[in-house]
Amino acid sequence: MNIITVLKLLSNLRVLRTHEHWTRAQLETYQNQQLAQLRAFAYQHSAFYRQFHQGMFDKPLSELPVLTKQVLMAHFDELVTDPKIRLADIHKRREEGLDGRYLGKYWINATSGSTGSPGIFLFNDEEWSTVLASFTRGYEWAGVRINLTHRSKIAIVSSVTPWHMSYVVGQTLRSPWSTTLRLSATEPIDHIVQQLNDWQPEVLIAYASMMRILAVEQLENRLHLTPQVVFTSSEVLTDETRRLVETAWGKRLFNQYAATETAGIAAECEHHMGLHLYEDLILVENVDEHNRPVPTGVYGDKVLVTVLFNRTQPLIRYEIGDSIRLSDRTDACGRPFRVVEGIQGRQEDMLHFPTAEGKQVAIHPNLFHQVMDTVSVSGWQIIHRNDGLHVLLSGSNSTTEEAKLVDDMSRALAKQGVVVPSIYIEPVDTIPRAANGKAPLIRSIS
Ligand SMILES: [Zn+2]
Repeated sequence: MNIITVLKLLSNLRVLRTHEHWTRAQLETYQNQQLAQLRAFAYQHSAFYRQFHQGMFDKPLSELPVLTKQVLMAHFDELVTDPKIRLADIHKRREEGLDGRYLGKYWINATSGSTGSPGIFLFNDEEWSTVLASFTRGYEWAGVRINLTHRSKIAIVSSVTPWHMSYVVGQTLRSPWSTTLRLSATEPIDHIVQQLNDWQPEVLIAYASMMRILAVEQLENRLHLTPQVVFTSSEVLTDETRRLVETAWGKRLFNQYAATETAGIAAECEHHMGLHLYEDLILVENVDEHNRPVPTGVYGDKVLVTVLFNRTQPLIRYEIGDSIRLSDRTDACGRPFRVVEGIQGRQEDMLHFPTAEGKQVAIHPNLFHQVMDTVSVSGWQIIHRNDGLHVLLSGSNSTTEEAKLVDDMSRALAKQGVVVPSIYIEPVDTIPRAANGKAPLIRSIS
Protein backbone atom coordinates (compact mmCIF):
# COMPACT_ATOMS: atom_id res chain seq x y z
CA MET A 1 0.00 0.00 0.00
CA ASN A 2 1.54 3.30 -0.99
CA ILE A 3 1.81 6.27 1.33
CA ILE A 4 -0.89 8.31 -0.43
CA THR A 5 -3.36 5.45 0.01
CA VAL A 6 -2.39 5.18 3.68
CA LEU A 7 -2.87 8.90 4.29
CA LYS A 8 -6.15 8.90 2.41
CA LEU A 9 -7.38 5.93 4.45
CA LEU A 10 -6.37 7.56 7.74
CA SER A 11 -8.12 10.78 6.82
CA ASN A 12 -11.22 8.82 5.77
CA LEU A 13 -11.20 7.00 9.11
CA ARG A 14 -10.93 10.28 11.00
CA VAL A 15 -14.01 11.57 9.19
CA LEU A 16 -15.94 8.37 9.88
CA ARG A 17 -15.06 8.59 13.59
CA THR A 18 -16.63 12.06 13.84
CA HIS A 19 -19.91 10.60 12.50
CA GLU A 20 -20.04 8.23 15.46
CA HIS A 21 -20.56 11.19 17.80
CA TRP A 22 -23.55 12.53 15.89
CA THR A 23 -27.10 12.52 17.17
CA ARG A 24 -29.62 10.53 15.19
CA ALA A 25 -31.01 13.80 13.80
CA GLN A 26 -27.58 14.89 12.56
CA LEU A 27 -27.09 11.51 10.93
CA GLU A 28 -30.44 11.74 9.16
CA THR A 29 -29.69 15.23 7.85
CA TYR A 30 -26.41 13.93 6.45
CA GLN A 31 -28.09 10.88 4.89
CA ASN A 32 -30.62 13.11 3.12
CA GLN A 33 -27.88 15.35 1.73
CA GLN A 34 -25.80 12.39 0.56
CA LEU A 35 -28.77 10.66 -1.02
CA ALA A 36 -29.79 13.81 -2.90
CA GLN A 37 -26.23 14.16 -4.24
CA LEU A 38 -26.08 10.50 -5.24
CA ARG A 39 -29.39 10.69 -7.08
CA ALA A 40 -28.51 13.94 -8.84
CA PHE A 41 -25.22 12.38 -10.00
CA ALA A 42 -26.91 9.19 -11.16
CA TYR A 43 -29.59 11.08 -13.11
CA GLN A 44 -26.92 13.19 -14.77
CA HIS A 45 -24.44 10.44 -15.65
CA SER A 46 -26.34 7.14 -15.84
CA ALA A 47 -28.66 6.54 -18.79
CA PHE A 48 -30.02 3.52 -16.93
CA TYR A 49 -31.18 5.48 -13.87
CA ARG A 50 -32.70 8.23 -16.00
CA GLN A 51 -34.91 5.56 -17.52
CA PHE A 52 -35.37 3.38 -14.41
CA HIS A 53 -36.50 6.32 -12.23
CA GLN A 54 -38.23 8.23 -15.01
CA GLY A 55 -40.94 10.52 -13.63
CA MET A 56 -39.78 9.72 -10.08
CA PHE A 57 -36.76 11.99 -9.71
CA ASP A 58 -38.46 13.80 -6.81
CA LYS A 59 -40.09 10.78 -5.20
CA PRO A 60 -38.85 9.54 -1.83
CA LEU A 61 -36.44 6.61 -1.81
CA SER A 62 -39.12 4.22 -0.55
CA GLU A 63 -41.17 4.72 -3.73
CA LEU A 64 -38.35 3.96 -6.17
CA PRO A 65 -38.14 0.61 -7.95
CA VAL A 66 -35.94 -2.11 -6.49
CA LEU A 67 -32.79 -2.99 -8.42
CA THR A 68 -31.94 -6.69 -8.67
CA LYS A 69 -28.60 -8.21 -9.64
CA GLN A 70 -30.15 -9.55 -12.83
CA VAL A 71 -31.28 -6.07 -13.94
CA LEU A 72 -27.99 -4.52 -12.85
CA MET A 73 -25.91 -6.99 -14.86
CA ALA A 74 -28.23 -6.82 -17.89
CA HIS A 75 -27.81 -3.02 -18.07
CA PHE A 76 -24.28 -2.76 -16.73
CA ASP A 77 -22.78 -0.48 -19.40
CA GLU A 78 -25.68 2.03 -19.20
CA LEU A 79 -25.76 1.95 -15.41
CA VAL A 80 -22.14 2.83 -14.73
CA THR A 81 -21.30 6.51 -14.96
CA ASP A 82 -18.09 6.31 -16.99
CA PRO A 83 -18.89 5.57 -20.67
CA LYS A 84 -15.44 3.95 -21.08
CA ILE A 85 -16.45 1.05 -18.80
CA ARG A 86 -17.55 -2.03 -20.73
CA LEU A 87 -18.72 -5.23 -19.08
CA ALA A 88 -17.35 -7.24 -22.02
CA ASP A 89 -13.87 -5.80 -21.36
CA ILE A 90 -14.13 -6.67 -17.67
CA HIS A 91 -15.09 -10.25 -18.45
CA LYS A 92 -12.17 -10.43 -20.86
CA ARG A 93 -9.79 -9.21 -18.15
CA ARG A 94 -11.12 -11.85 -15.77
CA GLU A 95 -10.63 -14.60 -18.33
CA GLU A 96 -7.10 -13.42 -18.99
CA GLY A 97 -6.45 -13.23 -15.25
CA LEU A 98 -5.28 -9.61 -15.49
CA ASP A 99 -4.52 -7.92 -12.18
CA GLY A 100 -4.33 -4.23 -11.49
CA ARG A 101 -6.86 -1.50 -11.84
CA TYR A 102 -9.16 -1.42 -14.82
CA LEU A 103 -8.71 1.70 -16.99
CA GLY A 104 -6.02 2.72 -14.53
CA LYS A 105 -8.43 3.63 -11.72
CA TYR A 106 -11.14 1.05 -11.08
CA TRP A 107 -10.95 -1.77 -8.54
CA ILE A 108 -12.98 -4.74 -9.72
CA ASN A 109 -14.75 -7.07 -7.29
CA ALA A 110 -16.93 -10.01 -8.18
CA THR A 111 -19.46 -11.92 -6.12
CA SER A 112 -18.83 -15.64 -6.01
CA GLY A 113 -21.91 -16.36 -8.07
CA SER A 114 -23.03 -19.19 -5.81
CA THR A 115 -26.51 -18.43 -7.12
CA GLY A 116 -26.57 -17.51 -10.79
CA SER A 117 -23.92 -15.52 -12.59
CA PRO A 118 -21.49 -13.36 -10.61
CA GLY A 119 -22.17 -9.70 -10.00
CA ILE A 120 -19.41 -7.23 -10.88
CA PHE A 121 -18.82 -4.16 -8.68
CA LEU A 122 -16.42 -1.34 -9.47
CA PHE A 123 -14.95 1.31 -7.20
CA ASN A 124 -12.64 4.15 -8.22
CA ASP A 125 -9.58 5.02 -6.10
CA GLU A 126 -11.49 7.44 -3.91
CA GLU A 127 -14.35 4.99 -3.37
CA TRP A 128 -11.90 2.16 -2.75
CA SER A 129 -10.38 4.16 0.05
CA THR A 130 -13.85 4.31 1.65
CA VAL A 131 -14.20 0.54 1.16
CA LEU A 132 -10.93 0.04 3.05
CA ALA A 133 -12.00 2.51 5.73
CA SER A 134 -15.30 0.67 6.23
CA PHE A 135 -13.47 -2.60 6.90
CA THR A 136 -10.90 -0.90 9.09
CA ARG A 137 -13.68 0.76 11.10
CA GLY A 138 -14.94 -2.67 12.16
CA TYR A 139 -11.45 -3.58 13.36
CA GLU A 140 -11.14 -0.32 15.27
CA TRP A 141 -14.45 -0.92 17.05
CA ALA A 142 -13.02 -4.23 18.23
CA GLY A 143 -10.05 -2.42 19.72
CA VAL A 144 -7.49 -3.11 16.99
CA ARG A 145 -5.56 0.14 16.92
CA ILE A 146 -4.30 1.46 13.63
CA ASN A 147 -0.85 2.18 14.89
CA LEU A 148 2.05 2.94 12.61
CA THR A 149 4.59 1.96 15.26
CA HIS A 150 3.28 -1.55 15.89
CA ARG A 151 2.63 -4.03 13.10
CA SER A 152 -0.29 -6.24 14.13
CA LYS A 153 0.07 -9.89 13.18
CA ILE A 154 -3.10 -10.89 11.40
CA ALA A 155 -4.18 -14.30 10.14
CA ILE A 156 -7.03 -14.59 7.67
CA VAL A 157 -8.53 -17.96 6.81
CA SER A 158 -10.92 -17.34 3.96
CA SER A 159 -10.69 -17.00 0.24
CA VAL A 160 -7.59 -16.63 -1.87
CA THR A 161 -9.61 -16.28 -5.05
CA PRO A 162 -8.48 -13.12 -6.84
CA TRP A 163 -11.45 -10.79 -7.52
CA HIS A 164 -13.08 -11.86 -4.27
CA MET A 165 -13.47 -8.73 -2.17
CA SER A 166 -11.82 -10.14 0.95
CA TYR A 167 -8.78 -10.97 -1.16
CA VAL A 168 -8.62 -7.63 -2.94
CA VAL A 169 -9.04 -5.76 0.36
CA GLY A 170 -6.45 -7.99 1.99
CA GLN A 171 -3.97 -7.21 -0.76
CA THR A 172 -4.42 -3.44 -0.47
CA LEU A 173 -4.46 -3.53 3.32
CA ARG A 174 -1.06 -5.19 3.42
CA SER A 175 0.23 -2.17 5.06
CA PRO A 176 2.64 -0.48 7.40
CA TRP A 177 0.56 -1.47 10.43
CA SER A 178 -0.13 -5.10 9.76
CA THR A 179 1.54 -8.22 8.56
CA THR A 180 -0.79 -10.87 7.34
CA LEU A 181 -0.80 -14.64 6.98
CA ARG A 182 -3.46 -15.57 4.47
CA LEU A 183 -4.69 -19.16 4.34
CA SER A 184 -7.30 -20.70 2.13
CA ALA A 185 -10.24 -22.21 4.01
CA THR A 186 -10.15 -25.01 1.45
CA GLU A 187 -6.76 -26.29 2.69
CA PRO A 188 -6.68 -29.39 4.93
CA ILE A 189 -7.36 -28.43 8.54
CA ASP A 190 -4.08 -29.97 9.83
CA HIS A 191 -2.18 -27.68 7.51
CA ILE A 192 -4.16 -24.61 8.62
CA VAL A 193 -3.64 -25.49 12.31
CA GLN A 194 0.10 -25.96 11.89
CA GLN A 195 0.59 -22.67 10.08
CA LEU A 196 -1.51 -20.77 12.63
CA ASN A 197 0.48 -22.31 15.48
CA ASP A 198 3.70 -21.17 13.81
CA TRP A 199 2.39 -17.68 13.07
CA GLN A 200 0.68 -16.92 16.43
CA PRO A 201 -1.63 -14.17 15.15
CA GLU A 202 -2.82 -11.31 17.38
CA VAL A 203 -5.88 -10.93 15.19
CA LEU A 204 -7.68 -13.98 13.80
CA ILE A 205 -10.19 -13.58 10.96
CA ALA A 206 -12.26 -16.37 9.40
CA TYR A 207 -15.63 -17.32 8.04
CA ALA A 208 -17.95 -18.46 10.83
CA SER A 209 -17.90 -22.10 9.71
CA MET A 210 -14.09 -22.10 9.77
CA MET A 211 -13.88 -20.28 13.10
CA ARG A 212 -16.03 -22.98 14.67
CA ILE A 213 -13.61 -25.65 13.48
CA LEU A 214 -10.66 -23.63 14.78
CA ALA A 215 -12.37 -23.16 18.16
CA VAL A 216 -12.81 -26.92 18.45
CA GLU A 217 -9.16 -27.45 17.44
CA GLN A 218 -8.18 -25.02 20.22
CA LEU A 219 -10.48 -26.66 22.80
CA GLU A 220 -9.06 -30.08 21.89
CA ASN A 221 -5.53 -28.80 22.32
CA ARG A 222 -4.23 -29.09 18.79
CA LEU A 223 -4.40 -25.36 18.14
CA HIS A 224 -2.56 -23.09 20.60
CA LEU A 225 -3.42 -19.47 19.89
CA THR A 226 -3.88 -16.46 22.14
CA PRO A 227 -5.47 -13.92 19.79
CA GLN A 228 -6.49 -10.55 21.21
CA VAL A 229 -9.39 -10.29 18.80
CA VAL A 230 -11.32 -12.81 16.74
CA PHE A 231 -13.44 -11.72 13.76
CA THR A 232 -16.07 -13.65 11.87
CA SER A 233 -17.86 -12.47 8.77
CA SER A 234 -19.60 -13.52 5.56
CA GLU A 235 -21.49 -16.47 6.99
CA VAL A 236 -24.26 -16.96 9.55
CA LEU A 237 -22.81 -17.06 13.05
CA THR A 238 -24.97 -19.37 15.13
CA ASP A 239 -25.23 -19.06 18.93
CA GLU A 240 -23.39 -22.34 19.39
CA THR A 241 -20.48 -21.24 17.22
CA ARG A 242 -20.23 -18.02 19.24
CA ARG A 243 -20.28 -20.01 22.46
CA LEU A 244 -17.53 -22.35 21.24
CA VAL A 245 -15.35 -19.43 20.16
CA GLU A 246 -15.86 -17.65 23.47
CA THR A 247 -15.04 -20.82 25.37
CA ALA A 248 -11.87 -21.22 23.33
CA TRP A 249 -10.61 -17.62 23.53
CA GLY A 250 -12.81 -15.59 25.87
CA LYS A 251 -15.13 -12.79 24.90
CA ARG A 252 -13.11 -11.51 21.99
CA LEU A 253 -15.40 -12.45 19.14
CA PHE A 254 -16.55 -9.61 16.92
CA ASN A 255 -18.95 -10.43 14.13
CA GLN A 256 -19.02 -8.32 11.00
CA TYR A 257 -21.51 -8.08 8.20
CA ALA A 258 -20.25 -7.17 4.75
CA ALA A 259 -21.09 -7.68 1.11
CA THR A 260 -19.15 -7.26 -2.12
CA GLU A 261 -21.73 -4.73 -3.30
CA THR A 262 -21.37 -2.45 -0.29
CA ALA A 263 -18.13 -3.29 1.55
CA GLY A 264 -18.73 -3.23 5.34
CA ILE A 265 -22.42 -3.01 6.30
CA ALA A 266 -22.31 -3.43 10.07
CA ALA A 267 -20.05 -4.50 12.91
CA GLU A 268 -20.11 -5.17 16.63
CA CYS A 269 -18.80 -2.57 19.01
CA GLU A 270 -17.17 -3.33 22.35
CA HIS A 271 -20.58 -3.95 23.96
CA HIS A 272 -21.45 -6.96 21.75
CA MET A 273 -25.14 -6.10 21.73
CA GLY A 274 -25.64 -6.56 18.00
CA LEU A 275 -24.03 -5.02 14.94
CA HIS A 276 -24.22 -1.27 14.31
CA LEU A 277 -25.15 -0.46 10.70
CA TYR A 278 -22.74 1.84 8.88
CA GLU A 279 -25.57 4.24 8.17
CA ASP A 280 -23.27 7.08 7.16
CA LEU A 281 -22.06 4.96 4.22
CA ILE A 282 -25.14 3.01 3.22
CA LEU A 283 -28.88 3.26 3.70
CA VAL A 284 -30.46 0.00 4.76
CA GLU A 285 -34.13 -0.91 4.32
CA ASN A 286 -35.28 -4.17 5.89
CA VAL A 287 -38.23 -5.43 3.84
CA ASP A 288 -40.51 -8.42 3.26
CA GLU A 289 -40.75 -10.34 -0.01
CA HIS A 290 -42.99 -7.59 -1.47
CA ASN A 291 -40.49 -4.86 -0.55
CA ARG A 292 -42.65 -3.55 2.30
CA PRO A 293 -40.77 -2.42 5.40
CA VAL A 294 -40.80 -4.85 8.32
CA PRO A 295 -40.94 -3.55 11.91
CA THR A 296 -38.01 -3.76 14.30
CA GLY A 297 -37.76 -7.11 16.04
CA VAL A 298 -39.01 -9.00 12.97
CA TYR A 299 -36.90 -10.82 10.39
CA GLY A 300 -37.28 -9.42 6.87
CA ASP A 301 -36.92 -11.40 3.65
CA LYS A 302 -34.31 -9.17 2.04
CA VAL A 303 -32.32 -6.02 2.53
CA LEU A 304 -32.37 -3.05 0.17
CA VAL A 305 -29.14 -1.09 0.20
CA THR A 306 -28.34 2.33 -1.17
CA VAL A 307 -24.61 2.91 -1.25
CA LEU A 308 -24.01 6.59 -0.55
CA PHE A 309 -20.34 6.69 -1.55
CA ASN A 310 -20.21 4.87 -4.90
CA ARG A 311 -20.55 7.18 -7.91
CA THR A 312 -18.88 4.82 -10.41
CA GLN A 313 -21.64 2.24 -10.15
CA PRO A 314 -24.52 3.78 -8.22
CA LEU A 315 -26.60 1.30 -6.25
CA ILE A 316 -29.99 2.68 -5.26
CA ARG A 317 -32.40 0.29 -3.52
CA TYR A 318 -30.26 -2.67 -4.57
CA GLU A 319 -31.61 -5.99 -3.32
CA ILE A 320 -29.49 -8.41 -1.34
CA GLY A 321 -31.09 -11.61 -0.17
CA ASP A 322 -30.08 -11.46 3.48
CA SER A 323 -32.67 -11.93 6.18
CA ILE A 324 -31.92 -9.66 9.13
CA ARG A 325 -33.69 -8.39 12.23
CA LEU A 326 -33.24 -4.84 13.49
CA SER A 327 -33.46 -3.76 17.10
CA ASP A 328 -34.81 -0.48 18.43
CA ARG A 329 -32.40 -0.49 21.36
CA THR A 330 -29.82 2.22 21.59
CA ASP A 331 -26.40 1.33 22.90
CA ALA A 332 -24.50 2.97 25.73
CA CYS A 333 -21.58 3.49 23.32
CA GLY A 334 -23.61 6.38 21.93
CA ARG A 335 -23.20 5.59 18.25
CA PRO A 336 -26.26 6.87 16.35
CA PHE A 337 -26.45 3.81 14.11
CA ARG A 338 -29.29 1.29 14.33
CA VAL A 339 -28.43 -2.21 15.49
CA VAL A 340 -28.84 -5.52 13.65
CA GLU A 341 -29.62 -8.09 16.32
CA GLY A 342 -29.90 -11.10 14.06
CA ILE A 343 -28.66 -12.26 10.66
CA GLN A 344 -30.07 -15.55 9.56
CA GLY A 345 -28.75 -16.03 6.10
CA ARG A 346 -30.04 -15.61 2.64
CA GLN A 347 -33.46 -16.26 1.24
CA GLU A 348 -31.86 -18.88 -1.00
CA ASP A 349 -31.18 -20.84 2.20
CA MET A 350 -34.90 -21.45 2.66
CA LEU A 351 -35.83 -25.08 2.11
CA HIS A 352 -39.27 -26.00 0.81
CA PHE A 353 -41.21 -29.05 1.97
CA PRO A 354 -44.69 -30.30 1.03
CA THR A 355 -47.55 -30.61 3.51
CA ALA A 356 -49.90 -33.61 3.58
CA GLU A 357 -52.31 -31.48 1.51
CA GLY A 358 -49.66 -30.93 -1.16
CA LYS A 359 -48.93 -27.28 -0.33
CA GLN A 360 -45.33 -26.06 -0.14
CA VAL A 361 -44.01 -24.58 3.08
CA ALA A 362 -40.76 -22.59 3.24
CA ILE A 363 -38.66 -23.51 6.25
CA HIS A 364 -36.38 -20.84 7.50
CA PRO A 365 -32.68 -21.63 8.11
CA ASN A 366 -33.14 -20.55 11.71
CA LEU A 367 -35.07 -23.73 12.48
CA PHE A 368 -32.09 -25.82 11.37
CA HIS A 369 -29.62 -23.57 13.20
CA GLN A 370 -31.51 -24.07 16.45
CA VAL A 371 -31.67 -27.84 16.14
CA MET A 372 -28.06 -28.17 14.98
CA ASP A 373 -26.81 -25.90 17.76
CA THR A 374 -27.57 -28.72 20.23
CA VAL A 375 -25.05 -31.07 18.60
CA SER A 376 -21.42 -31.07 19.64
CA VAL A 377 -19.61 -31.26 16.31
CA SER A 378 -16.90 -29.18 14.70
CA GLY A 379 -18.95 -28.59 11.59
CA TRP A 380 -22.23 -29.42 9.91
CA GLN A 381 -24.03 -28.94 6.65
CA ILE A 382 -27.57 -29.81 5.65
CA ILE A 383 -28.15 -30.80 2.05
CA HIS A 384 -31.71 -31.09 0.80
CA ARG A 385 -31.94 -33.65 -2.00
CA ASN A 386 -34.88 -35.28 -3.73
CA ASP A 387 -34.64 -38.29 -1.40
CA GLY A 388 -34.56 -36.28 1.82
CA LEU A 389 -32.29 -34.34 4.13
CA HIS A 390 -28.64 -35.29 4.34
CA VAL A 391 -26.99 -34.00 7.50
CA LEU A 392 -23.21 -33.94 7.20
CA LEU A 393 -21.37 -33.92 10.52
CA SER A 394 -17.66 -33.50 11.04
CA GLY A 395 -16.01 -34.32 14.35
CA SER A 396 -19.06 -36.26 15.51
CA ASN A 397 -18.29 -39.08 17.94
CA SER A 398 -21.60 -39.96 19.50
CA THR A 399 -24.15 -42.20 17.81
CA THR A 400 -26.68 -41.50 20.59
CA GLU A 401 -26.40 -37.83 19.79
CA GLU A 402 -26.92 -38.58 16.12
CA ALA A 403 -30.09 -40.56 16.85
CA LYS A 404 -31.37 -37.75 19.04
CA LEU A 405 -30.62 -35.29 16.27
CA VAL A 406 -32.86 -37.20 13.84
CA ASP A 407 -35.64 -37.15 16.47
CA ASP A 408 -35.26 -33.44 17.19
CA MET A 409 -35.12 -32.50 13.53
CA SER A 410 -38.20 -34.61 12.73
CA ARG A 411 -40.12 -33.04 15.58
CA ALA A 412 -39.15 -29.49 14.62
CA LEU A 413 -40.21 -30.06 11.00
CA ALA A 414 -43.45 -31.78 12.01
CA LYS A 415 -44.32 -28.72 14.08
CA GLN A 416 -44.17 -26.68 10.87
CA GLY A 417 -46.87 -28.88 9.43
CA VAL A 418 -44.76 -30.49 6.71
CA VAL A 419 -44.40 -34.15 5.81
CA VAL A 420 -41.17 -35.07 7.58
CA PRO A 421 -38.58 -36.12 4.96
CA SER A 422 -36.10 -38.97 5.38
CA ILE A 423 -33.15 -37.74 7.40
CA TYR A 424 -29.74 -39.24 6.78
CA ILE A 425 -26.86 -38.58 9.16
CA GLU A 426 -23.52 -38.71 7.36
CA PRO A 427 -20.33 -38.40 9.41
CA VAL A 428 -17.60 -36.89 7.22
CA ASP A 429 -13.96 -35.95 7.76
CA THR A 430 -14.47 -32.43 6.50
CA ILE A 431 -17.45 -30.39 5.40
CA PRO A 432 -17.07 -29.69 1.68
CA ARG A 433 -16.21 -26.09 0.82
CA ALA A 434 -16.94 -24.11 -2.31
CA ALA A 435 -14.07 -22.72 -4.39
CA ASN A 436 -14.31 -19.46 -2.44
CA GLY A 437 -13.69 -21.33 0.82
CA LYS A 438 -17.17 -20.91 2.22
CA ALA A 439 -19.12 -23.80 3.65
CA PRO A 440 -22.82 -22.90 3.55
CA LEU A 441 -24.80 -24.44 6.42
CA ILE A 442 -27.76 -25.24 4.23
CA ARG A 443 -27.86 -26.25 0.59
CA SER A 444 -30.46 -27.53 -1.77
CA ILE A 445 -29.49 -29.88 -4.60
CA SER A 446 -32.12 -31.33 -6.87
ZN1 LIG B 1 -22.33 0.17 20.46
